[in-house]
Amino acid sequence: MGDAGVESTVSPPESTAQDSFFSMTDVFLISLITGLFTYWFFFRKKKEEIPDLPKIQTVSSPARDSSFIEKMKKTGRNIVVFYGSQTGTAEEFANRLSKDAHRYGLRGMAADPEEYDLSDLSRLSEIDKSLAVFCMATYGEGDPTDNAQDFYDWLQEADADLSGLRFAVFGLGNKTYEHFNAMGKYVDKRLEELGAQRIFELGLGDDDGNLEEDFITWREQFWPAVCEHFGVEATGEESSIRQYELVVHTDVNMNKVYTGEMGRLKSYENQKPPFDAKNPFLAVVTENRKLNEGGERHLMHLELDISNSKIRYESGDHVAVYPANDTSLVNQFGEILGTDLDTVMSLNNLDEESNKKHPFPCPTSYRTALTYYLDITNPPRTNVLYELAQYATDTGEQEQLRKMASSTAEGKALYLSWVVEARRNILAILQDMPSLRPPIDHLCELLPRLQARYYSIASSSKVHPNSIHICAVTVEYETKTGRLNKGVATNWLKNKVPNENGRNSLVPMYVRKSQFRLPFKPSTPVIMIGPGTGIAPFIGFIQERAWLKEQGKEVGETVLYYGCRHEQEDYLYRQELARFKQEGVLTQLNVAFSRDQAEKVYVQHLIKKNKEHIWKLVNDGNAHIYVCGDARNMARDVQNTFYEIVAEYGNMNQTQAVDYVKKLMTKGRYSLDVWS
Ligand code: NDP
Repeated sequence: MGDAGVESTVSPPESTAQDSFFSMTDVFLISLITGLFTYWFFFRKKKEEIPDLPKIQTVSSPARDSSFIEKMKKTGRNIVVFYGSQTGTAEEFANRLSKDAHRYGLRGMAADPEEYDLSDLSRLSEIDKSLAVFCMATYGEGDPTDNAQDFYDWLQEADADLSGLRFAVFGLGNKTYEHFNAMGKYVDKRLEELGAQRIFELGLGDDDGNLEEDFITWREQFWPAVCEHFGVEATGEESSIRQYELVVHTDVNMNKVYTGEMGRLKSYENQKPPFDAKNPFLAVVTENRKLNEGGERHLMHLELDISNSKIRYESGDHVAVYPANDTSLVNQFGEILGTDLDTVMSLNNLDEESNKKHPFPCPTSYRTALTYYLDITNPPRTNVLYELAQYATDTGEQEQLRKMASSTAEGKALYLSWVVEARRNILAILQDMPSLRPPIDHLCELLPRLQARYYSIASSSKVHPNSIHICAVTVEYETKTGRLNKGVATNWLKNKVPNENGRNSLVPMYVRKSQFRLPFKPSTPVIMIGPGTGIAPFIGFIQERAWLKEQGKEVGETVLYYGCRHEQEDYLYRQELARFKQEGVLTQLNVAFSRDQAEKVYVQHLIKKNKEHIWKLVNDGNAHIYVCGDARNMARDVQNTFYEIVAEYGNMNQTQAVDYVKKLMTKGRYSLDVWS
């Protein structure tokens, strides 16, 4: 679930933890400290930028300069492209735009807003033909990405005069989410309010459709607008410039070679808290069992041991897992490109001024890079095809690659059908284009980074302080070209068997805070709606309510709406739920079996049946509503059902009912943890 491929996969935003028991002050203080601690590590993490230009002969200062203006002046750039990126797509787009500038005689620089003082925007006009572009992803429920949080806070509070600033914004979002492109829209509007001059209209990329196409369509109109504004023209110079140079290490101390670590060398051998995205904890898998009793799918429950890690979590948080690519896929790269994958190499940035020295930890072997650092299974973006085209020796294949990378209608249609819809990954493209044999180092430079996957934690830390549980389904499907594509993380997790051949199975992981939280007071009723693997966080919630009850707390109504295909096949956690019901923690267990009868029965149908009770819980009992699972259809249909109930029992028209539910959302009484 996580930048779709985009910036919006698993949903949620961050927050500090809040909890709810009798030793309230203690818990609150601990939560606050944990929250601040987490905030520090999450929000202070440094990302790096990838400027685009070949070697620049300047004296580099070791200290990081927080003034992007000074850096731009020093390196002769006019265009700065900031990115708010969670999973790398916005960063990729920013790099592409900054690279494009070259074609118009301008010089670009991609920049992480977290690394610079954005109040300098008011000084950008000191630079000739200057422009600030913002590639802003929206994360979770309309939130900024971690690296754009400070910029967002500054924009909200700032009363700066940005009248000399020229800007353009491209937003990355997903229409299946409630707050589509909230960040892109906000930045665009706010910069204008502060007096900045928009030189091209806001672009709204939709990852539920075709984000790549949205981006290239916006870009093809954006550059002519830039040309017109500054009175410049395309130079005809194309931008196929390598960013990194290859250095092969023939005589290297293997202790200095990265073997899959995300940050510090040897961090997997010598584990040191705190654990986060750059320093994941290697958790031992203590349980991995199949949850479904039949059917072709594989639904699983995993338990990760976090003893001695100092990792804390709350019910509703997410666990991020770093998967590895399938060994047989990796080997195929070696075979098809005729490369020794165990060659140890470094890719070094040609721009000495850049904060990003390598595209992934170096030195390392091609095998490690393709296994742990690079995304080899998603269809590549058009810029990758464009750069690779030069290596196709067959003119037909070269033309096809160039066409797919172009912004013509024909090119876009071909890219959509041949790459996106056919789900051709880079390996499939190499297989289907026999003359295309790029050098492996250039391929490694071009491929995006393999991202961590997020799962809603299926346990309560009150009951399981030393373990984190995951509920997931393996993703597997046949493509139009007859290939079997397997989800990277879920298939990797499936094979993580405890104590395999006497050895521990290890999963690199860290916890990401969420706002999906039980109510502060245990007596507040909760209504949980989670069909399929959407049950995950509710297992944690119910465990926690049971624990609270055991502590003698008064626990309010705890209502679950769960749905699956067949009662005898994929009724997940059936025994656990029955036990919670029997013990009285779960006051209502409503299960919709969608395929056990001719007509579909879904969670929202059962909600409708109980509408009067639902209304009482919500309106009179101040119940909190939680929805988890599929964003595209289920979450929307459930929300529409709530509109209907509110309209009927609250005597409201549609607009008022929508407003009522939206207010619940604002107050944190209607929460979503959804993915698409
Ligand atoms: P299932 O596919 O098992 O679906 C659970 C239940 O929800 C089924 O009974 C299904 O019925 C029902 N359902 C289908 N449409 C609706 C609807 N509009 N409203 C209410 N209920 C509905 O769930 P999974 O957990 O396997 O996956 C849920 C979704 O999340 C899928 O769309 C999947 O692609 C997506 N997803 C899941 C990930 C994961 O790791 N679990 C990762 C990324 C995405 P029926 O199928 O009979 O119509």
